[in-house]
Amino acid sequence: MKIGVLALQGDFIEHIAILRSIGVDALEVRLPAHLDSLDGLIIPGGESTAIGKLAAAYGLIEPLRDFGVKRAIWGTCAGAILLSDDVHRDQPLLGLMHIQVERNAFGRQVASFETAIDIPALKKVAPQGGPYPAIFIRAPLIEKVGEGVQILAQLEDGRIVAAQQGRLLATSFHPELTDDHRVHQYFVERAREN
Ligand code: GLN
Repeated sequence: MKIGVLALQGDFIEHIAILRSIGVDALEVRLPAHLDSLDGLIIPGGESTAIGKLAAAYGLIEPLRDFGVKRAIWGTCAGAILLSDDVHRDQPLLGLMHIQVERNAFGRQVASFETAIDIPALKKVAPQGGPYPAIFIRAPLIEKVGEGVQILAQLEDGRIVAAQQGRLLATSFHPELTDDHRVHQYFVERAREN
């Protein structure tokens, strides 16, 4: 099992450390050739415009789209924005997931927060596990999900913060910043389904 982490900008180092700690071979991805032989890819949090522009400059947009048609991709925060197909503005997107996203929907950096959320799908990797500690930093909101997209988690007021479309996963929050590794384990299981 080999998982790549897009390492153009953002917190890729944290994802790599968690993957290695759960026994997964993890590699930094910066060029199209780095996608060869991967079972899955994580697009980390950071700044979606910066990651998108760098991905375009390195010729990664089409290779990433092709990868996402065949393999598992998980986008956290800015990564979720990149996976989406509608963000109400013009910026480079992969457009792989049928989700409509609103950037910075929870306010500015100072409005960052942590809250425990229920993610029923995690029972598949940890039957005894309770609520998940979700960290939101200038987070996007998943406003609408399209055909074939399953909602994985919502805040108490119903706002959608995690979704899945086949082997594609989007989370508004940052699982790489907690020591609860269940979402990483859940994603590795999706990558195994390739
Ligand atoms: N606000 C960032 C964006 O819109 C995402 C923030 C994050 O990844 N923590 O790209």
